[in-house]
Amino acid sequence: MRKILFLLLSMVFLSSSCTAQSTFHVNKVIAHRGAWKAQGLPQNSIASLQEAIRLGCEGSEFDVWMTADDILVVNHDHDLQGMDIETSTYEQLLTKTLPNGEKIPTLKEYLTEGMKQQGTKLILEFKPSRINVERSEKVGEMSVKTVQELKAEKWVDYITFSYEGGKKAIATDPKANVAYLTGDKSPAQLKEDGFFGFDYNIRVLRLKPEWITEAQQLGLTTNAWTVNSEEDMKWLLDLKVNFITTDEPEKLFEIISKR
Ligand code: MG
Repeated sequence: MRKILFLLLSMVFLSSSCTAQSTFHVNKVIAHRGAWKAQGLPQNSIASLQEAIRLGCEGSEFDVWMTADDILVVNHDHDLQGMDIETSTYEQLLTKTLPNGEKIPTLKEYLTEGMKQQGTKLILEFKPSRINVERSEKVGEMSVKTVQELKAEKWVDYITFSYEGGKKAIATDPKANVAYLTGDKSPAQLKEDGFFGFDYNIRVLRLKPEWITEAQQLGLTTNAWTVNSEEDMKWLLDLKVNFITTDEPEKLFEIISKR
């Protein structure tokens, strides 16, 4: 009787752990601004996100700015073909199109596209405002609220150069995974302030490789940008970082497949 009970309990446990299992890829490859380079797609376009998904990247990174009328849009630079995003309205930005004919994606549109699949995570970088720190905090807070509104939490990890914006995002959703980009904080400091990990420039990590070990010991995630050389990719793989952010995800996949 006890044996049967044990078997039944094991089956219940196994089935519940199976349903809880994530379908997201685990391969360290983060496409920087989507997978754009090899196919000549515009950075941060929906097409570059779709290509990162097609390649099976663990994550696809993109950048978020806020327009003058408080619309969050996806673009790398502070300007869209010479039009400053923070001082332009969304309507004004719509007068420009990306080279592949797309309009500038809103954060909502970008997340909605990403949520059509469950293999590639969406790595949301909210950009520090060039106007003031309050706007940086607002972009962090509004990004998290948009993710919550769309119920996109399981897809999204955050990165930011704004330490204050990062802390605001963590305060808005204490479960949000927020990694810091600037490279001027120790893993211990990040841990204390509730960050998920770091995403530092490869040059910072080459100078301070001990930060990778320290972060690993503290349970923080480790990521590096923007890693395009084979030598750097192999060095980071040897150090067992969690993620590598690259413009050349195809190359990184090839290196990983040969190891
Ligand atoms: Mg970025």
